[in-house]
Amino acid sequence: MKDIIQRLFLHKPLRHDEFVTLLDSNSEELRTELADKACSVRSSVFGKDIYIRGLIEFTNYCKNNCYYCGIRAGNSNAVRYRLEMNDILSCCENGHSLGFRTFVLQGGEDPYYTDDVMVEIVSAISKKYPDCAITLSIGEKSRESYKRLFDAGADRYLLREETSDEEHYKRLHPDNMSFNNRMECLRNLKEIGYQVGCGFMVGSPYQTHDNLASDLCFIQEFRPHMVGIGPYITHADTPFADMNNGTLEDTLLLISILRLMDPELLLPATTSLGTIHPLGREMGIKAGANVVMPNLSPVGVRKQYMLYDNKICTGEEAAECVGCMDRRMEAIGYKVVTSRGDSPRL
Ligand code: SAH
Repeated sequence: MKDIIQRLFLHKPLRHDEFVTLLDSNSEELRTELADKACSVRSSVFGKDIYIRGLIEFTNYCKNNCYYCGIRAGNSNAVRYRLEMNDILSCCENGHSLGFRTFVLQGGEDPYYTDDVMVEIVSAISKKYPDCAITLSIGEKSRESYKRLFDAGADRYLLREETSDEEHYKRLHPDNMSFNNRMECLRNLKEIGYQVGCGFMVGSPYQTHDNLASDLCFIQEFRPHMVGIGPYITHADTPFADMNNGTLEDTLLLISILRLMDPELLLPATTSLGTIHPLGREMGIKAGANVVMPNLSPVGVRKQYMLYDNKICTGEEAAECVGCMDRRMEAIGYKVVTSRGDSPRL
C-alpha cells in the first residue's frame, strides 16, 4: 500500500490491481492523506483559482434510453423543452456579463439539432463572443459531425464514457447503444483537436471496484484534458428507480486519485456531488477538484432537465448562482476566476 501511494504521489502509472487495492482501502485516513497531497499538487499548477463554466442545458429531448437517466426517451413523465438559438444566445449574453468566458452547451441526443443547426448555433456564439471557449456535451456523433462543429468554433467536448467495462456498459444501456462506439467517439474528438472531457458516474448500478479501476486505467492511458465524475443518483422514473445512490466518500477518494494521477487535469466538483451533500462541491474542491459549473439555463426550464431526483440549483437566476458560488469558494479559501480556464496542456 505504501508503495502504491508513493507512486501515485509521484504521478507514476499504477496497475489495475493497484487501483483496486486503493479503492478497497477507502477510509477517512486514506482520503485525508490523498486529499492533502492532491490539494498541494493542484495548488502548484492552479494556485487557489477555481474555473467556472456556464452550463446551458438547451434540450431535454433524447433519443436514447440509458437506464439511469431521467431524460431518457422512455420517460413519458418528463416534460420536454428545447431552446432556440436566440434563447441560447441570451443565456450567453447574461453569462458573459456575469464574467463567464466558457459556455457548455449540454443536452440529450436530440435529432432536432441537426449538424446544420448546431453549426449555426456554435458559429453565432463564436462570432459574438470570440473571447469565450465553447464546450459541447451532446453525445455521440460521427467523426465528420464532430469535425464540422470544431471548425465552426467549438473548442471542447464532454463525453463521459460512463464505464470503461463493456459488460458493465451493457447493464447500463439498451442493446442499441454501443460501448465501442462511445470509445471511438472519444478517440475521434481527441484526434480532431478538441480539449476532451471523459468521465463516469460513481456507484452506478452493478459497478464494482474492478470497473472503477478500469476507468482509472482508461483515463491514465487516454490522458483527457478534463474528467467529470459525480455520484450516481437514482431517478424515480427510470428502470433503476430502486437502486442505491453512489457515495460521497467514494467520489471524494476518486477525485483525489484523479488529481494525483494528473496534476494538470480540469476536474469539476459536480452538481450531483452538491446534490448528495449540501457541501459536496466544497468537499470536492478540498479533495482536489478545480472547476465548478453554475447553471446558466433559463430558470423556467431548469426543473425539466432532471437527470436524477432532487437536483440542486434549479430555482435561482444565473446571477444568484454565480454569487452563491463565489461565496462558497471564498468561504473555503479559494477564488472563482473569470478566465477561459483552458487546459494547461495545450
Ligand atoms: N447526452 C449527453 C449528455 C448527458 S447528461 C451525453 O450523452 O454525453 C450528462 C451526464 O450526466 C451523463 O454523461 C451522466 O454521466 C450523468 N448522469 C445521467 N444520469 C445520471 C444520474 N441518474 N445520476 C448521476 N449522473 C447522471
